[in-house]
Parts: sequence; structure tokens; C-alpha cells
Amino acid sequence: MTTKVEQATSLRCPVCRAKVVVALQNEVVIHNAILKVDPASGRVTAKCVRCKAWVQVPLRYTGDMTPS
Ligand SMILES: [Zn+2]
Repeated sequence: MTTKVEQATSLRCPVCRAKVVVALQNEVVIHNAILKVDPASGRVTAKCVRCKAWVQVPLRYTGDMTPS
């Protein structure tokens, strides 16, 4: 049992229930995931390493899209 509530924005894979995103108070940890960014919206999806399903991540990419 944990004393802190830390799973407010934590995200599990809907298919295999593996933890994909864990949101702590000051940081968000994405576990071993391949990330995909939609350039138009900046919306981020993460690929579950266990079952390869794409999981919508409640994050937005706002950096430079230009690959170097
Ligand atoms: Zn999965």
C-alpha cells in the first residue's frame, strides 16, 4: 500500500495493462516506449513494448519538428 496518490495521470496499456506512462508530481515517466508524434496536432502516442499496441498519451509535443 502506498501512502501517496500518484496515479492520477498514470496510464496503462488497455490491452495488456502494462504501465506506459507514470505521472509523478514533478515529472512524467514514459516506460520503454516508442513515441509517435502527429506533426499537425503535436499529439503523442506511445507504443507498448509488451503487446505493441498504440496508447494515447496525455502529452503534447511542442518542440521543433524538423529532423536534423
Ligand atoms: Zn500492451
